[in-house]
Amino acid sequence: MTRLIQINANDNVAILTEDASKGTVFPDGIVLLEDIPQAHKVALKDLRKGDSVIRYGVVLGYLLHDIKKGGWINEKSLELPLQPSLEDMEYGQSVPFSIPDPPLKVFEGYDNGPDSYAGTRNLLAITTTVQCVSGVVDQLVSQIRSKLLPKYPNVEEVVAINHAYGCGVAINAPDAVIPIRSIRNIMRNPNFGGEIMVVGLGCEKLTVDKLLSPEEINAENVLMLQDYPGYASMMEALLKMAETKLQALNRRKRTTLPLSKLCIGMQCGGSDSFSGITANPSAGYASDLLVRGGATVMFSEVTEVRDGVHLLAQRCVDKEARNKLAYEIGWYDDYLAKGAVDRSANPTPGNKKGGLSNIVEKAMGSIAKSGHSPIVEVIGPGELPRKHGLVFAATPASDIVCGPSQLASGITLQVFITGRGTPYGLAEAPVIKVCSRNDMKEHWDDLIDLNAGGIVTGEESVDEVGIRLFNLILEVASGRKRTFAEQYGLKNFLCVFNPAPIT
Ligand code: CA
Repeated sequence: MTRLIQINANDNVAILTEDASKGTVFPDGIVLLEDIPQAHKVALKDLRKGDSVIRYGVVLGYLLHDIKKGGWINEKSLELPLQPSLEDMEYGQSVPFSIPDPPLKVFEGYDNGPDSYAGTRNLLAITTTVQCVSGVVDQLVSQIRSKLLPKYPNVEEVVAINHAYGCGVAINAPDAVIPIRSIRNIMRNPNFGGEIMVVGLGCEKLTVDKLLSPEEINAENVLMLQDYPGYASMMEALLKMAETKLQALNRRKRTTLPLSKLCIGMQCGGSDSFSGITANPSAGYASDLLVRGGATVMFSEVTEVRDGVHLLAQRCVDKEARNKLAYEIGWYDDYLAKGAVDRSANPTPGNKKGGLSNIVEKAMGSIAKSGHSPIVEVIGPGELPRKHGLVFAATPASDIVCGPSQLASGITLQVFITGRGTPYGLAEAPVIKVCSRNDMKEHWDDLIDLNAGGIVTGEESVDEVGIRLFNLILEVASGRKRTFAEQYGLKNFLCVFNPAPIT
C-alpha cells in the first residue's frame, strides 16, 4: 500500500512510496488531487505562488504557481534558490542531536602503531610511478599470486597501484600537488602495513623523491625497470623484493582494537529518489554511531553537497574547518567555471523522472549520509586528516575518482550507496554496497550487501537499517565477512584526480 514519507517535521511536502491515483486518501486528511508517480512530492497544505517548498527542513525552491493540499510538486513547479554564498558562513551552530551509544566499540584490525589507523585487510601493495610500468607490474602480481602468496597465509592479497599519472604531465603546475599527494598517500594506506614497494621506469616525471622521503629511497623499496637487462632479470629482482615485503606482512595479526583505530569512507553512485530517504540516512545513522564510538568517517562529493554547503558549515566545529570548507568548495567552483559548467547540468532527466526536482533536493539526499555529527575537519582531495571524527574530504563525486581520493586520505573500508546499481569495487579496501529499494536488491541479490528498501515499505526504520549497517561495517572491517565485490574480485581502476594539464 502506498504511503507518504515526510522527512522533517517542518516539511510542507512528503514523498509517495508508490504510484498513486487521483482521489487516494491518506491519514491527516490528504486526498490526491491528481495521479502522482512514485517518489514524487505531494503538498501537505495549501501553498501559494512564491511560497518556499520545504523538504529535509530546507528550502528546495519557490513555487511558480499556487498548489493545493494533495497537489503534485515537481521540477516544473519550482524556481531554484540562489546558490549559497561561501562568504561568512555560520559555523558551530549545529543543533545537538541525540545518538545512542554504539552497540560495539571494538573491532579486529591490523594495528599500525600509535599514530596510525589500523588496517581492515593485510595487503601487499606495489606502487607504480608511471603507467609505462603497469604491464610488468600486472604480470608480477599474477606471478606473486601463484608462486609466493600461498607461502604467506596471513597476507590476504597483492594489489597493483596502477594509475594514469606519472609522465606526460605538467608536474610543476600548481594543481599537480593533488595527484602527487594522492599517490604518495595511497601507497601508505593502513591496509598496506607500512611496507613500501615502488616500481618505476627511470625517465618519468614523477620521480621517487616526490613520493618517498630520502631515507625511504633505497634498493629495498624502489626498483627502476631501466636498470635491469631485460624482462627475466627485472622479474627475478621484483619477485625477490616482493618476497621480503611478504615476509614482513605475514607477521601481522589481527588484534582487538578501539573504534578510534578505524577510518572509513562513504560515497554514493547511481542514486535514485529513494537514496535520500532510505540508504543515505541509514548510512548517516551508522556514521553517527561510528563517530560516537571514536571512529573517523569521511564523506565527499563536492558537486553533490554544493547547494547544502551552508548546512555543512553550520556543523563545522571551528573556524578553521569552516574556512577550509569555503576554500575547497570555492576551488571547485573555479574548476567547474574553467570548464564552462554550471549547476543546472545536475540533476539528470532520470533524477527528475524519479522525483528529484532540482540540485538542492539531490544535495540534501547526498548530505544525509553524513548523519548529524559535527564536522571536525575538512580536507582537500588526497590529503590526510589530522583529527578523528566526521571529516569532509572534498573530492569529485565521480565514483572512480572519489574512491582513490578517499583511499589516499586513509580509508580502509568504503560504504557505497546505490539506487540504480553498480558493480563498483576497490582492490585496496573492501566496499560494502547498500541499495535504496527492495526491487534493486531482488534484481542484484548477489551484488548488493545490504538493502535499505524496508524503510520504503515500512518494515524497518532508518535507525534499524543504520544499526544493521554499523554491524556489517564492523564484521567486514574485522575480516569475519567478505563483501560481494571482494568475493568476486571486482575492482575499479584507480583514477587519481588530476586537475592539472596533461602535456
Ligand atoms: Ca559518487
